[in-house]
Amino acid sequence: EVVAERPVKAPDAKPFGVAITHPDRVVFAGDGSTKGDLAAYYAQVAEPMLAWLGNRPVSLVRCPQGRGKHCFFQKHDAGNFGGKVGHVPIREKDGSTEDYLVVDDGEGLLTCVQMGTIEFHGWGAPASDVEHPDRLVFDLDPDEGLDFAAVRHAAIELRDLLGELGLASFPMVSGGKGVHVVVPLDGSRDWVAVKDFADRFSRAVAQAHPERYTANMRKSERKGRIFLDWLRNQRGATAVLPYSVRARERPSVAAPVTWDELAALEQAAPYTIADVAELLVRADGAVLRDWGRADQALPDL
Ligand code: ATP
Ligand code: MN
Ligand code: MN
Repeated sequence: EVVAERPVKAPDAKPFGVAITHPDRVVFAGDGSTKGDLAAYYAQVAEPMLAWLGNRPVSLVRCPQGRGKHCFFQKHDAGNFGGKVGHVPIREKDGSTEDYLVVDDGEGLLTCVQMGTIEFHGWGAPASDVEHPDRLVFDLDPDEGLDFAAVRHAAIELRDLLGELGLASFPMVSGGKGVHVVVPLDGSRDWVAVKDFADRFSRAVAQAHPERYTANMRKSERKGRIFLDWLRNQRGATAVLPYSVRARERPSVAAPVTWDELAALEQAAPYTIADVAELLVRADGAVLRDWGRADQALPDL
């Protein structure tokens, strides 16, 4: 008898009370993972994921027909989640107010999945105080052709430079090609101060090592370099959240790692939804207990 190998255990019919329709629909042609597999993954990581996802304006990458088909970025609550997903009113640049999505529980998380969500992206500020960032993210974007060793090295160099400024930082593999260096903040500064710091810091690093880095988003500036994408740190920008699946070829996962682990990592995206058991053990264990936690104010630069 041939038993099909499934990436994760068979999903509950109704994880967190949410009926998942079309559970056998293939979402990832790369490995055959289905909507049911995705729902089972998110149901299992809900607890550790909500520590990062909860109380935060979020944007969703939704691909209702699967990841190779039409996908879209959803920032606002268009009223299509049946009241199962929370929201927070946020003032827009033009002075109007829009409701942003906030996912605070397993039911909200699985409702998003039922609606075709693959990726979860978060603001750098909590929903309870959207004008005061609690997290800075340096998104390291390597030029095509640069190997992961260069990215790894860059992340560690940023850690050391941030450390010289008294800032603790933590690495997350994005599940794509790069690494995000996450700096927790105490929320004592506003977006203007945080963006200004991210801009100055990234430009200073790029000026010191122009052969390796650019702080300019133009693709032509990236040739053989790593783009230090500091633009994640402006009001309204997002970064992919820990434990989010990525809408890539394989269902890779954005995952917190330690600095020691990163130093030994051979490839950019070591985890997929098939590794959920390992991700859960890691999230519960001692290695990642302090990941992303530091009560620190942004210094002046
Ligand atoms: P990789 O490591 O492959 O670069 P990534 O998640 O860092 O993966 P980026 O393209 O560098 O991908 O984007 C960084 C972040 O910017 C994303 O995590 C996402 O939150 C945000 N972002 C990307 N594309 C868009 C978009 N079209 N609209 C709004 N925000 C986006
Ligand atoms: Mn990136
Ligand atoms: Mn980027």
